[in-house]
Amino acid sequence: MSPRVVLLFLAAALRPCAALVRLHSATFSFTFLDAPARFGPRVGGDGICGSLRAAEPAEACEPIKDRGGRRGTGRKAFVLIARGNCSFEEKVRAAQQAGFDAAVVYDDEEKSSLYSMVGESEGIHIPAIFVSKMAGETLKKFARGEDDECCINSSMDETAGTVLVMSFVSLVVIISVLASFLFARNCRLLRHGVDNHPTYVKKYVVEKLPCSAYIAPCSSEDNFLEACAICLEDYNNGDMLRHLPCKHGFHKICIDSWLTKWGTFCPICKLEVTSGE
Ligand SMILES: [Zn+2]
Ligand SMILES: [Zn+2]
Repeated sequence: MSPRVVLLFLAAALRPCAALVRLHSATFSFTFLDAPARFGPRVGGDGICGSLRAAEPAEACEPIKDRGGRRGTGRKAFVLIARGNCSFEEKVRAAQQAGFDAAVVYDDEEKSSLYSMVGESEGIHIPAIFVSKMAGETLKKFARGEDDECCINSSMDETAGTVLVMSFVSLVVIISVLASFLFARNCRLLRHGVDNHPTYVKKYVVEKLPCSAYIAPCSSEDNFLEACAICLEDYNNGDMLRHLPCKHGFHKICIDSWLTKWGTFCPICKLEVTSGE
């Protein structure tokens, strides 16, 4: 994951990125996901409810004709604006100018994600949200301009965003550590491969190492030393032993399988045995 993607994610998570807008009446109720604008105030607390009407002209690039005109009455009025032809900031300023308490901007194309509207906050004191084309068209069709028919809830708060960011950062750190560990391990394996460094000794090399039959010493006191360091069994008279260049001896069967399957060195003194490569 590139640092840029992480930064974008952080920016999105620190700024609330999703909330809900609901249109309801006695007979129906629609709820849509919305994206709060990245400028102007945000809807706080329990959210706000008001009437909803479509802007005229729809894109609100010129002053909106039907004024909300309810400022000071305690009843809120929202305006539905189509995306396009001018900036989001211009649309929100037009809504504010016409006396609306919030602007609901809807997409002009059906897309899988919602756009986070950007603009200059200076002088803007009404919140704005962005909804999908489908949401916008439904709101437009069913909104009747009645009191409290439309509710915009408050967006995910900063604390939740911060927790999300912290979890995400921890996850990224853990994944990076794991990835670098695996990468280092793979590099090492690769290097070994490139160097042709064998992890075991060729069978024909092992077979060239000297062998002898074990003969127990006359004095039984020496016997405690005479055990195979691989299987830890005491040697018995006649056992076949194999001797490494370091002079250490082991059961032939034990050291042969050690050298051909496990290691290239003497299990006692770690001296490397020529691999035959
Ligand atoms: Zn052994
Ligand atoms: Zn040795």
